[in-house]
Amino acid sequence: MSIWNPWHGCHKISPGCANCYVYRRDESIGKDASVVTKTGDYDLPRKKNRQGAYKLTPEDGIVFTCMTSDFFLEDADAWRQDCWDMIRERQDLQFHIITKRIDRFAQCIPPDWGDGWAHVTISSTCEDQERADHRLPIFLNLPIRHREIISEPMLGELHIEPYLATGQIEHVVCGGESGEHARRCDFRWIQEVRRQCIRCGVPFTFRQTGAVFVKDGKVYHIERRLQHAQAKKSGYSYVPGMGTADAIRYVLPERGALSARLRQSEFRSRFHLSAQDRAYLAEKGLDTVRRHAKDFVASRLSAENPKNDGRQTPMRGHPVFVAQHATACCCRGCLEKWHHIPAGKILTAHEQAYIVDVLMDWITEDAGK
Ligand code: SF4
Ligand SMILES: [Zn+2]
Repeated sequence: MSIWNPWHGCHKISPGCANCYVYRRDESIGKDASVVTKTGDYDLPRKKNRQGAYKLTPEDGIVFTCMTSDFFLEDADAWRQDCWDMIRERQDLQFHIITKRIDRFAQCIPPDWGDGWAHVTISSTCEDQERADHRLPIFLNLPIRHREIISEPMLGELHIEPYLATGQIEHVVCGGESGEHARRCDFRWIQEVRRQCIRCGVPFTFRQTGAVFVKDGKVYHIERRLQHAQAKKSGYSYVPGMGTADAIRYVLPERGALSARLRQSEFRSRFHLSAQDRAYLAEKGLDTVRRHAKDFVASRLSAENPKNDGRQTPMRGHPVFVAQHATACCCRGCLEKWHHIPAGKILTAHEQAYIVDVLMDWITEDAGK
């Protein structure tokens, strides 16, 4: 991957720009980022070495274009056609252009653009719902061969499923904001967009947590060097190549590791079978209780959006209910958090069987105590 910055400097036009890193970096060296100038690398794609070979030859062919400005900025109108000429010349590369000015795209394309160039990917950013609803309808109506949505910094909950359902979006990237004045990013927003992507079969990348990350209502301040690593470690990105069910099977936790984690939870480890539960178990036997577990999972958890989700499991009254709370199989939110099974989708037979196994493991173990 290489970066080509033909010009430098930009103007803030959108809430996502508030803490723009171009501005931050320039300020730190006493430079005015609102002055737009060509860089020394302006014609990098056509530069050659003494042997006559191109200098810009990243191994993977990917060139992130115009990362210290916006490719569709007014100030660059006089230079852009020349840049398109360079891009046209380098069909051996894949150019990625990220913009907050998708509304200027139509007036900025070269005359021979046609229905888009195959070696150019355009990413429209949308940091909040308002920007999404303004930009994405425009984006989807433009002649573009490869489209991507980037929500980074993500500033609120996003509902973009109708846009994803068009089948025209190849990838969605979400992430928090970095820097000293970073705004918070809530993990629920990330989860929500991921669910929408899974439903539409669109690849999803959780790129970075940002500096102020909210998870389960708790605020975490995350060091710069860990912001990408932690997002990656979360295993939260999604690749539909595997098929939704396979992707989910792929991330189901190993049951031994899961019960170790559950034991560490003060809340989960508090649950135990009562005297009545034990009497019930003795009377009915494990096979009958397993059948009940299967029924409960199917009727209360397996729908795409189960009724009263979050409150569908009583705290007592059946050994399986207690096991559900003890193992975080009580609702779809807990299943997603602890077992990586995305909410908002029907549970596969495989997932249901896994949950029943987890419940019966716990019941057998607790009954033996
Ligand atoms: S469009 Fe991008 S580069 Fe320009 S000010 Fe906004 S965040 Fe910065
Ligand atoms: Zn729950």
